[in-house]
Amino acid sequence: MDGSRGESLRGSGSPPRTTTEIRHLYVHAPFCARRCRYCDFAVTVERRPESARWLRAIEAELALLERGGEVRLADRIETLYLGGGTPSLLDAGAVAGLGGVVGAERMAADGFEWTAEANPESFQSETARAWARAGVNRISFGVQSFDPGALRWMGRLHSAADANAAIARARAAGIDNLSLDLIFGLPNPVARDWRRDLDGALSLAAPHISLYGLTIEEGTPLARLLREGRIRPAGEERYRDEFLLAAERLAAEGYDHYELSNFARPGFASRHNRACWRGAPYLGLGNGAHSFHGGRRHWNERDWARYATRIEAGGLARSGGERPGLGQRRLEKIWLALRTAKGLDPAALPPAALPLLGRWRARGLAMARSDRIHLTPRGWLLLDTLAVELDAACARPASSGSPSPSRCKRGEEDAIRGPPPGEDRILPQLTATRPPGL
Ligand code: SF4
Repeated sequence: MDGSRGESLRGSGSPPRTTTEIRHLYVHAPFCARRCRYCDFAVTVERRPESARWLRAIEAELALLERGGEVRLADRIETLYLGGGTPSLLDAGAVAGLGGVVGAERMAADGFEWTAEANPESFQSETARAWARAGVNRISFGVQSFDPGALRWMGRLHSAADANAAIARARAAGIDNLSLDLIFGLPNPVARDWRRDLDGALSLAAPHISLYGLTIEEGTPLARLLREGRIRPAGEERYRDEFLLAAERLAAEGYDHYELSNFARPGFASRHNRACWRGAPYLGLGNGAHSFHGGRRHWNERDWARYATRIEAGGLARSGGERPGLGQRRLEKIWLALRTAKGLDPAALPPAALPLLGRWRARGLAMARSDRIHLTPRGWLLLDTLAVELDAACARPASSGSPSPSRCKRGEEDAIRGPPPGEDRILPQLTATRPPGL
């Protein structure tokens, strides 16, 4: 798992093409029966998705990339993540077809993880059985809440009973590695009892739970409601309290808070996400999908129809790319390390940065464990601020005793959506994570 070969290209004039071996694959299925009020993902509203066209496009994109020599899937890949959108809306045959495109041999590694996302209302027994036959061995359910009013308000199509039934169907098909997504920080005046939702999630005994802090994104119906004064975002206090309550409650129930928004019983942490947080290269296929390999990032056209048309015309459907500079890489490395409970090794930091870690510990924002420093749940609420602070300390010349601004360019700071150093505020958007690749 080595994506560092591209690093050696810096300053070498016209870089030769490199082939990175990919062990982590993200595939995007963009179809949803209805767009949820808060959603700004690369989604197209379609009750009967063009499953066959989608599969052909994914297959063609992968073939183009491999033929061009830019990427090569490893003979044994470690993870496949089918995200969306709503993959459970696809014809079951399309999911089996995806397995065929990737190849059974490639999916034969020990511990291979194939996650697929599902919405409860479209996850029927037939879907469950077909997915299990295809090799899906982990399902992430978009449950979000068990409160009927909150679900309606979000624009979700399922009920609490649907969520229970979907999970039972997955288990009946032999898939026990299950994850539930829950959303916290709902705006006012949506009435919702967060404690009851946590109880509801715990009663389903899924070994993995992800928390998403609701953010109001431009262009969504929610942003319009906000402009019209019909909703008010959850205040920082409620946002913080709900996050900390969940962290405490889930830890007490035996879940390991292994990343700021993810909790798992022992042995059930997401392999896909963990690999990408470690900086492993990954390939994203489908509209809106992001890739990171050979030291570069690429992202695809977000619109499904435009993406499909470009692929069908025989080309790739990229809409952008970048090679992160030195400063950006350092900042991202810090940010990724601080996201996880593994944290970072202080020995890898310059001496100028160490007093800052001491101050975080004194404020209860970080803890030391096995010679590493990791953030506490309170620290995770300030992740962006702390990452930028630490980056600034790492960038400071060794002889300088006084603080200097981060060497990151503004655009690089934007890349992690961080506030300026010193602006010590909770950043709700950071508790919302998408699988790396979207
Ligand atoms: S939140 Fe999920 S189910 Fe809702 S529109 Fe977005 S991708 Fe689809």
